Amino acid sequence: MITDDKVVSFNYTLRDDKGEELENSGAEPLQYLHGHQNIIPGLEKALSGLAVGDKKTVTVPPEEGYGEYNPSLKFSTEVEKFGEDVPPVGAMVQIHAQDDQVVLAQVAELKDKEVVLDANPPLAGKTLCFEVEITEIRGASEEELAHHHPHGPDGHGHHH
Ligand code: ZN
Repeated sequence: MITDDKVVSFNYTLRDDKGEELENSGAEPLQYLHGHQNIIPGLEKALSGLAVGDKKTVTVPPEEGYGEYNPSLKFSTEVEKFGEDVPPVGAMVQIHAQDDQVVLAQVAELKDKEVVLDANPPLAGKTLCFEVEITEIRGASEEELAHHHPHGPDGHGHHH
């Protein structure tokens, strides 16, 4: 059963509230460490107590998903800043915010002299409908608990 400190693998298909598919887990199930905020709160809460083989449809409102859409995070920047390499609409770019933090933003629109960027998470403001199937549940290693995320077989897939 899924409880805190278990490593959980699951397949999912994510649709918006109009039934349009946004993404899915693809060839490999997604793996996360339950109770360590690896996935959005609304989904983590709904998976609690499920067992291997369980299937569930979970609807997550924006406030338990990627947050409400914040219009002030959409802004224009001069196209010259990108030099020859103007990114296409939909591309993700890294920008430096005022306090020198690096923020990921999506190109929303290209104008003559401006690029309109949107630093909201792409799924902000959306009601998310997940169809999930639990494929594996196992105990976490001490190292995984200390890192707050699962490690793959033989410790591969480690990213910091
Ligand atoms: Zn780690």
